[in-house]
Amino acid sequence: MINKLLIANRGEIACRIIKTANAQGIKTVAVYSEADKNAQHVKMADEAVFLGPSPSKESYLRGELIVEKAKELGVDAIHPGYGFLSENAEFANLCAKNDIIFVGPPASAIHAMGSKSAAKHIMEQAGVPLVPGYHGDEQSEAVLKNAADDMGYPVLLKAAAGGGGKGMRQVWNSDEFSQALNAAKRESMASFGDDHMLVEKYLTRPRHVEIQVFCDTHGNGVYLFERDCSVQRRHQKIIEEAPAPNMSPSIREKMGEAAILAAQAIDYVGAGTVEFLLDEDESFYFMEMNTRLQVEHPVTEMITREDLVYWQLTIAEGKPLPKNQNELTLTGHAFEARIYAEDPSNEFLPSTGNLALLRTPKETDVVRVDTGVVEGDEVSVFYDPMIAKLVVWGENREIALKRLISALGEYYIDGVSTNIDFLKRVAAHPAFVSAELTTTFVEKHHDSLF
Ligand code: ADP
Repeated sequence: MINKLLIANRGEIACRIIKTANAQGIKTVAVYSEADKNAQHVKMADEAVFLGPSPSKESYLRGELIVEKAKELGVDAIHPGYGFLSENAEFANLCAKNDIIFVGPPASAIHAMGSKSAAKHIMEQAGVPLVPGYHGDEQSEAVLKNAADDMGYPVLLKAAAGGGGKGMRQVWNSDEFSQALNAAKRESMASFGDDHMLVEKYLTRPRHVEIQVFCDTHGNGVYLFERDCSVQRRHQKIIEEAPAPNMSPSIREKMGEAAILAAQAIDYVGAGTVEFLLDEDESFYFMEMNTRLQVEHPVTEMITREDLVYWQLTIAEGKPLPKNQNELTLTGHAFEARIYAEDPSNEFLPSTGNLALLRTPKETDVVRVDTGVVEGDEVSVFYDPMIAKLVVWGENREIALKRLISALGEYYIDGVSTNIDFLKRVAAHPAFVSAELTTTFVEKHHDSLF
């Protein structure tokens, strides 16, 4: 049983987790850095522990200190949220060694998905479809270039250790290969301390469709349908929706089953997301598995009317999945827009400062705002400058989209630049309205969006 839960995170996701813990009668412990002394997540929790100075390395990433504090306070379980320590296999191990439940998969599953190339080997063996490409250990330029020449251009170079779109380069022909490889390797080394590369066939108009899966400790696995996260900038998601528009029930089922196969191949437990590229001809290919709760999980909650954090806690306690596949239903349509303190007209440069004015849409049964800040709070340089996630639901996509546009119009923010006008232009764009979604959406409609 989990009686006391420590949330090893900050901001909106810490607040989000505390809400479910409260509803379940679970006591909560927040952690915080210098910059977050007066943060909402600290106020919402039953207890709070100071970790150190504002930089994440000196606070939210101090796994040993967090476990030590958890033991002192008699904590049963730690929820890592997303980012920070959520996909750190060593931290999951450390929790286990100290008899604290890590609300996430076993360390071995995190480790297995930690490298894109190792993950692809496992998925290949399990029979999960992969983007054609090379994911071998031999890393000489000649071998990588041969692989690219053989599969034909364009190709995508990807850092095996990659994340957040870093260490990726498109290569359009053989002449560009060498230069692109060096640039990708340099970026990968700088970001991840490793420059192992994958070569993939570059799909020119794919959709990013990901499947939410859950597995329990009794060998059961289900999928909670899909999210379409095609609308991205520099490989980062902007607006997500569920279900994926124009997805046939048979493809949904095939992708769902492939996702469970992927999870079971690594003895997965807990909440996970299997990301696929869906091509125009409805072929789909495994990209990677994220071994945590995703930022965009609320759209799944809206269409399934399930509380995914409740599911995580239930599984972490060793209980079976709350529902089986036949009991899960998909109702209506949901969108999530990520409200950021940033300047879209200046390459989305983060904007910091005091939220002198913060007027947010009124929350209802169909409009949800997940946030960790209130008016007067500071958006600091230390963390991700996301202000909130605006989530709406409608009986169908058209109604949900109208609600999204109308809710975006209710925002008034002063003190920092935001992406709200940009989001409004995306949401109202004729191609978005008619669900012509591909991962190149922003590039393709650049002139009308900026
Ligand atoms: P990261 O872990 O850095 O986020 P991913 O492998 O998840 O990298 O890919 C991020 C995004 O890059 C995808 O959502 C998609 O838009 C694009 N992408 C990845 N692989 C391919 C590919 N083979 N062809 C076309 N686009 C791709």
